[in-house]
Amino acid sequence: MTTVELPRVPWSVPDWHERGACQLFPELDWIEAKAKSPQALACKTICAACPVRYDCAISALERGEPNGIWGGLDRADRKKIAVEFGFPLPGDPPPHGTHARRVKWGCTCRPCKDGHALYERERRFRARAMAVWSRPLLVLTVPFKAGRRLAGAGQYLLPLDVPAPLGAEREQQPDEAAIPAAA
Ligand code: SF4
Ligand SMILES: [Zn+2]
Repeated sequence: MTTVELPRVPWSVPDWHERGACQLFPELDWIEAKAKSPQALACKTICAACPVRYDCAISALERGEPNGIWGGLDRADRKKIAVEFGFPLPGDPPPHGTHARRVKWGCTCRPCKDGHALYERERRFRARAMAVWSRPLLVLTVPFKAGRRLAGAGQYLLPLDVPAPLGAEREQQPDEAAIPAAA
C-alpha cells in the first residue's frame, strides 16, 4: 500500500515580514548576533515589542531554522521549544510537504511541491487582502506646496511623516480601524 503525504497547511504565511520591528534597525544583525552578546540582547528586546513576534517565532520553529534570533528566540530557546512541542530541531530538515522543506532544503518531492504551492497561494491571498487597507489614506482637495514640491488637487498623499496640509480631506477607509498601530 502506498502512503500519500498531503501538503501541510502552513501555520503562518509571510504577510508579517514587512511589519517586523527589525526592519527599523538595519544596523543590527539578527542572524549573526552571538548568543548572550549585547547585540543579541538588543535584538531580543526589540523582538519583545514586535507586533509580529508570534508569527516570526512559529515560522522559524516550523522550518527548523538553525541560525539567528526569530521572534525573540535564539537557537537554544528554539531547541527547548522544539523538544517540548514537536517542531523539528534547529538544523534538522522540516517534514516533507512543507514550504520550508521545498525552499530551504530543495526537496523536489510531490508533497513538498504541493506544500510550497499552497503556501504561495496563501501568501498572495494575504498580500491582496493587505493591499486593501494599505492604500493611501489622504487625498488632496487643494494644491499643496512643500518646499520645492507641489502636489495637485486629487493627488494621493502616502501616510509618511509629512504634516497633513490644511484643507486636505481625510478619506475614511472601510476597515481603517483594523490597522495595527505599529504597521
Ligand atoms: S520578532 Fe524580531 S526578528 Fe521577528 S520580525 Fe519581529 S523584530 Fe524581526
Ligand atoms: Zn519533500
